[in-house]
Amino acid sequence: MNKTWLITGCSSGLGLHIAQAAAARGDNVVATARDPDTLRDLAERFPDRVRTARLDVTEPESAAAAIALAERDFGGFDVLVNNAGYGLIGALEEAEPEEYRPMFEVNVFGLIETTRRALPVLRRRRGARIVNLSSGAGISGGAGSGHYSATKFAVEGLSEALAREVAPLGVRVIIVEPGPFRTGFLGRSIATAEREMEVYAGTAGQRRAYRESNDGRQAGDPEKAAAVILRAVDADHPPLHLPLGPVAYGIAERKLEAFRSDMEAWRSVAIDTDYGPTAEVAP
Ligand code: NAP
Repeated sequence: MNKTWLITGCSSGLGLHIAQAAAARGDNVVATARDPDTLRDLAERFPDRVRTARLDVTEPESAAAAIALAERDFGGFDVLVNNAGYGLIGALEEAEPEEYRPMFEVNVFGLIETTRRALPVLRRRRGARIVNLSSGAGISGGAGSGHYSATKFAVEGLSEALAREVAPLGVRVIIVEPGPFRTGFLGRSIATAEREMEVYAGTAGQRRAYRESNDGRQAGDPEKAAAVILRAVDADHPPLHLPLGPVAYGIAERKLEAFRSDMEAWRSVAIDTDYGPTAEVAP
């Protein structure tokens, strides 16, 4: 059965590759971007199956318009991909609110508002999927990307809660956690805190250096990433968490080991905190 997709941030990178892969196999796609001109090639390649729309995730009415287009032309959609997002490099102390708050508007609040407008349509479809782009930085925080990690940790928590809310309604949530993939991410889609402090040269400063030397050299192939995401969407039992690529797998494994090790080391002390036997029911 062909699916219909609605994808944010299709001007380049993972969003574009997911849109191309879905359309190439015969699915319908509402491909969206802040500047719909960037989608012209895609629309020309697949005139029957691709519709394009302007969607800035910080403008919920633009999401509503794209959703209305999907309903009008395709009778709704089965898969929402919340892909739009960008990063910020800087130590916690270095970045100013005017530098990090707009990223929360896009990565977190934009994702929430797009999803809220899509849910009434998705709830009507059998086997609907919501794919939320998190990151390896959504699994573990690294020096120099704390603010970005905070946005992606927010995506993780929201998505886990949403998964529990919509599973009984037949909608599944997939949190994609990519490692480094060769997209616009380390170039035009990452901001850098203007203030640079010498005390953070050995920590957050390393992230600035990483960006300089790795833009365009990331090992991850976004076409392969898109293929894995399509497989996960198609699965009868899709994963809630999908670390993508070997770097993301390494991050997840180290996180699990460190978490487990802290818990084991402190279990006997940290667990002894209740008043005594109670009848409390876990939420
Ligand atoms: P990309 O090629 O730079 O794509 C980012 C996309 O987000 C662009 O289409 C950009 O559109 C869009 N976008 C930014 N702000 C937007 C807004 N307000 N409304 C709508 N679209 C907006 O980078 P990418 O790697 O494909 O990034 C896609 C997602 O993967 C992001 O959520 C990112 O955090 C995540 N991710 C990427 C990597 C990686 O290494 N590539 C790793 C972990 C997570 P414009 O053209 O208008 O700027």
